Amino acid sequence: EREKARAARHEPGATKDGKRVEVAANINRASAAADALDAGAEGVGLMRTEFLFLERDSIPTEDDQEQEYRAMAAALGDKPLIIRTLDIGGDKEVPYLGLAREDNSFLGIRGIRLCFERPDLFLPQLRAIIRVAKDHPNVHVMFPMIATLEDFRRARATFDEVRQELGVGHVPLGVMIEVPSAALMAEQLAPEVDFFSVGTNDLTQYTLAMDRMHPQLARQTDAMHPAVLQLIKLTVDAAQRHGKWVGVCGGAAGDDVGCLMLAGLGVKELSVSTPQIAGVKAALRNRTSAELQELATRALAQTDAAAVRALVKG
Ligand code: PEP
Ligand code: MG
Repeated sequence: EREKARAARHEPGATKDGKRVEVAANINRASAAADALDAGAEGVGLMRTEFLFLERDSIPTEDDQEQEYRAMAAALGDKPLIIRTLDIGGDKEVPYLGLAREDNSFLGIRGIRLCFERPDLFLPQLRAIIRVAKDHPNVHVMFPMIATLEDFRRARATFDEVRQELGVGHVPLGVMIEVPSAALMAEQLAPEVDFFSVGTNDLTQYTLAMDRMHPQLARQTDAMHPAVLQLIKLTVDAAQRHGKWVGVCGGAAGDDVGCLMLAGLGVKELSVSTPQIAGVKAALRNRTSAELQELATRALAQTDAAAVRALVKG
């Protein structure tokens, strides 16, 4: 079965009846692009740019960043690339930035909040990305840890200022849905964005109030919990009303049950780790879109994640 999935890895991601669900890769460095494409990636749904910062001991310059984003965009040709702006804080510590220690780092100055505090980090990154977007129309940008409409408007205003300074036209802008308030405000966010990308790792952590790194809670911290699925449904329904698309770049997208439930909820793009691409495509091809919708509807009516998983495995 594995061999069969591998042989078909370059077919477009779709259900049995041909409903398209793009399967993209989560990769952080341009050097990983060739492997992802060879594995069947239809794009990059999440480039975690903080890895450029984590893998060294000083702040990468604007030029360093531009080079990396440009290499990634070029490697993908006309396939989409979604670059996520810095998501430092929480579990991602960067010692040389000299950030204040926080008692609750996951609830503190993390992601877009840090970028608002530190224009010395945010502005060079935006300039680097926008220079690349000027030459590569496949570049999309999204912001992490958006909790309020005000967060997105502020991020977009800064982005637009830099974009206009550099004389660059529209660049598709997305919001990561990874804080419950953002999912609950999806109806108000949707008209203002080009797309949403659900970060199920954080969305699960913040919805269930369970640390995503906590070893004792690991079994319960499951994105297939109906509470999390309800928030994703809200997000997808709001996006559809406004003609926008929703992707998922959290771990649930590459999960054997998760990929089916998410497609059933109406998600249009699943961004997964490179080794998961062929398997996710094969799982989608095995089911009709009507079957997946039915599965998702039943999942929403369950009382816990185990019961949701049993719908597929059982
Ligand atoms: C997520 O939260 O699901 C996500 C994709 O972002 P990260 O894992 O980098 O926090
Ligand atoms: Mg996240």
